[in-house]
Parts: sequence; C-alpha cells; structure tokens
Amino acid sequence: MVREITQEEGFIERIYWLIKLRWIAILGLILTIIFVQQILHLSLYILPLYYISVLLCVYNLAFFLFLNQIRRKTGINLAIINWIANAQISLDLLCLITLIHFSGGIENPFIFYFIFHMIIASILLSRLASFLQASFSVLLFLFMVVFEYFGIIPHYNLVGLIASDQYQNPIYSGAVSFVFISTLYIAVYMATSISGTLKEREKNLKQLNRLLEEKDRVKSEYVLRVTHDINQHLAAIKGCIDLVITGYTGALNDKQMDLLRRANDRTGKLMSFVKALLKITRIKLSKDIEMEQFSLRKTIENAINFVDTKAKAKNVAINYSIETDVDNLRGIQIYIEETITNLLANAVKYTPNNGKVDISVKNGDNSILIQIADTGIGIPEDEVSRVFDEFYRAKNARTVESDGTGLGLSIAKQVIEKHNGRIGVESKLGIGSTFSIELPNTTV
Ligand code: ADP
Repeated sequence: MVREITQEEGFIERIYWLIKLRWIAILGLILTIIFVQQILHLSLYILPLYYISVLLCVYNLAFFLFLNQIRRKTGINLAIINWIANAQISLDLLCLITLIHFSGGIENPFIFYFIFHMIIASILLSRLASFLQASFSVLLFLFMVVFEYFGIIPHYNLVGLIASDQYQNPIYSGAVSFVFISTLYIAVYMATSISGTLKEREKNLKQLNRLLEEKDRVKSEYVLRVTHDINQHLAAIKGCIDLVITGYTGALNDKQMDLLRRANDRTGKLMSFVKALLKITRIKLSKDIEMEQFSLRKTIENAINFVDTKAKAKNVAINYSIETDVDNLRGIQIYIEETITNLLANAVKYTPNNGKVDISVKNGDNSILIQIADTGIGIPEDEVSRVFDEFYRAKNARTVESDGTGLGLSIAKQVIEKHNGRIGVESKLGIGSTFSIELPNTTV
C-alpha cells in the first residue's frame, strides 16, 4: 500500500518547490537584464540589479541549507516551516520592489510580477497570511510610488520603453496603482479560494483513505480468524485420512485406496492454499517488522537450491550473477528467501523445457536490484497489471499449469513493501517475463 504523505511532508515539498522556482527566476532575471541591456539597448541602472540577483542566490541557498538542517535535526516542525515560507515570500517581495524601483518604478511593466508571489503565497500559506502578504506588497508599492513622486527617493527612468516622467503624472500613477492593488487582492482571493477547496478535498480523500484502510484491516482480521479455523479442521481431516491410508483401520481395497489418496491430495492442496492465505493476512496485519542483518548471497543460493531439482527435470538452466559488493541486507531473511524462491519457482514453472532463467543482483545508488528473467510463456499484456492481485491467475497460466493459488505474487508484494521496497514485472507473451525487486540498500 502506498504510504500517505503527511500534511507536514506535503508542506515541506512545496517549500522545496519554491526554492527551485526561485533558481529559475534568478536565471530568468539575469537573462532579462542582459537582454534589455544588450538587445533592446534600454538604459538601465544595472549594478543594483546584479546585486539583487546575488542576494537572491545567497538567501535561496541559505534557506535550502537551513531547511535541510532543521529537517534532519528536529524532523518536520510545521511552525518553523511556516515561518520560513513567510520569510521567503516577504524577502522576495522586498527584492522585487527594489528591482522595480531601480528599473523604472511604476513605469516598469514587471510590477505585475507581484501576482506570481500572491499565487505562491495562496498555495503555501493560510488565507489570512496571503492577504497580509498582499497588503505588504501594496504597502511597498505605495511607498515606492509616493516617495518617488515627492522626490524622497530618486526615480530611475526606463529610457526607451515609456515616455519618461510618467511617475510624475498623478492620473497615470493613480490608474496604475488602482489596477495593481485591485489585481493583487483579486488574485489572492481567487487563488486562496481554489487552493482552499483543493486542500479541503485532499483532507476528505485522506480521511476516506484511512477509513478504507481500517475496513481492510477489519476484513483481514476476519479472514485471519476464519482461515485459522479452517486450517485446524483441515489438519484434523488430513490426519484421519492419513491414518486410514496407512492401514491403521484395516486393509483397503484398490478402489477405496484410490479415492482416499485423491481426497488426501485435495486436502493437502487446500491446506497449502489456506496456509498461503493465512500468511498474506498475517503480513498485512503486522505493523512493525523486526529487521535482522542477513546475507543476501546465501539467501539467493538457498532459493536456487530449492528449485534446482524441478529446473533440472525440465532442463531449464538457472544462471546467477551478483555484484561483488552486495551481501548484507536488513530485513526478515525468511520472508525474502520465500519471496525469491517463489519468483524462481514461478519462472521454472512457467518456462517450457530447455528454457533458461537468469537471476541477477545489482547494486544501485540507494537500492539493491534483484531481477529474475525467464524465457517462459509470458503474461498477456492486458493481464500484466493484475498478476500481483490476490487470487489472480492469467489465462495462459491456467492452461499450462492447473495447480496454483494466485497468492504467491501478492504475498511477494506485501513482503517487499513491508521492507520499503518495490516489485514489478515486464513481460512479453510467448517470449518471457522479468520480475524486478528493488530494496533499500543496507549493505555495510
Ligand atoms: P500461481 O503461480 O500460484 O498462479 P502467483 O501469485 O505466484 O500464483 O502468480 C500469479 C500469476 O502471475 C500466475 O498465475 C501467472 O499467470 C503469472 N505469473 C507469475 N510468474 C510468472 C512467470 N514467471 N511467467 C509467466 N507468468 C507468470
């Protein structure tokens, strides 16, 4: 089952997204300065613009490192992350207004870039905080307009783009200010409404998911009780049949013996099926699994030994390769061995005589990749996605092999996911299948 992302994790992901976005914005800013200066030949007061680019780089890097640091030290603390988000957006607004001031003030069409910050604030922050950030933007903007108008701070003309000294024109300044301020508030209102609805929906979906998980747990507990009882009754039935077959109750004629052997055989199959069901339900219900250090090499060798006789009987060659630096793994050895044995047994079972099975183990950066490839019957394309479902058996498998519970792969999936790994398959009908297991690398 896919692990649910917590509210805190979702928030921190969005902050990292903001940092990534800022790197792109910095690049865009530098390219725009170069473009305006070199291609459009507008006269710009360039140096402060580069200073601001450097400042943006410095605090973006600082926020990135700080975020990594506190995440490692204190885990995810919503209050601190909220503070970081607010600080970042406020700093961005200050940088933007400074950029605008040095490049034409109210005459610069880039003033409308404030809207992007308002949308980002609406996604990251609460509705109140977003409106406060909008008001902060309006305040910065009005300070700039009024101070430039009264000559308290200088005005830097954007020569070549707009008739200069528009900032001294009260009608122009008033109209632009009105449009600017109303646009900001409308943008925040709309964006917070949309993001509020989405957040509410996300919350509902999470609640629904928890409810389904709870129902699934109740169902599994029920299955566990029932299968446990069935298993006990079956064991008793089999015990009685065994006694009669071995002659404890007297000699049997051939017909009786044949019927009892068949009954015994069927009971045995039913018991393996019930045991598999018990196992998958137990794994599903287990919360914390006790991990131990074990040798993956030995585990795979055991699994190969287990299927060796069957493979030889069909003349199916098993080739095995493992990278030298892979061995120690943390997990439940017996479960991993059973999983690999299961995949190998399937590979042998569904591969016609004289075929081959390759098992390879590779060391990835953070994971270990185990692949089992066969030259078998393959899986029909429209059924590949279902083979990990409980009780599912593909049509072609049923014709080749009548025995099978359709539980082996779902147990394998549960086991691998309990180890925080992934399992998947690629297959071509009539050519072969490759099952891949990816486990977190705990090699030491
Ligand atoms: P079972 O083998 O008992 O039917 P599994 O859960 O192990 O159950 O496998 C589920 C289904 O996946 C099989 O019935 C078969 O259709 C398909 N399958 C698994 N392994 C292979 C394989 N190596 N080649 C082709 N089909 C496979």
